[in-house]
Amino acid sequence: MSENNVFARIIRGELPANKVYEDDEFLAFHDIDPAAPVHLLLIPKRHVVSLQDVGPEDAAWLGRMMALIPKLALENGCRPGPEGGFRVVANSGDDGGQEVPHLHFHILGGERPWKPKS
Ligand code: 5GP
Repeated sequence: MSENNVFARIIRGELPANKVYEDDEFLAFHDIDPAAPVHLLLIPKRHVVSLQDVGPEDAAWLGRMMALIPKLALENGCRPGPEGGFRVVANSGDDGGQEVPHLHFHILGGERPWKPKS
């Protein structure tokens, strides 16, 4: 059965998103309710609910996903260098505060002060 959450619908093109990156495996777009000057969401196209569902067999694609984060952050407004940078958050499950049940990394950045809600 196909997923029916908003991110699965964005992947299928059923809902619009302000996309900043797409390839065969991953999609990144702006969060609809940004918690920082830069707030991107990076998701895999494969069906994975959260980090609770990954294991050693997922290391290769997860590594490719992680390696995209600095590229996307810097291409979309995060400042480089030690005075810049970004924050990465992956909420997992109800106790982790996850609202959308499809694995995603929040990429948050931009000049402070900003109050992260995640
Ligand atoms: P979670 O709490 O699951 O870690 O984060 C879900 C994030 O998805 C929230 O930051 C929320 O603002 C964002 N979000 C929810 N629905 C949509 C949507 O339809 N489009 C976009 N671009 N972001 C969404």
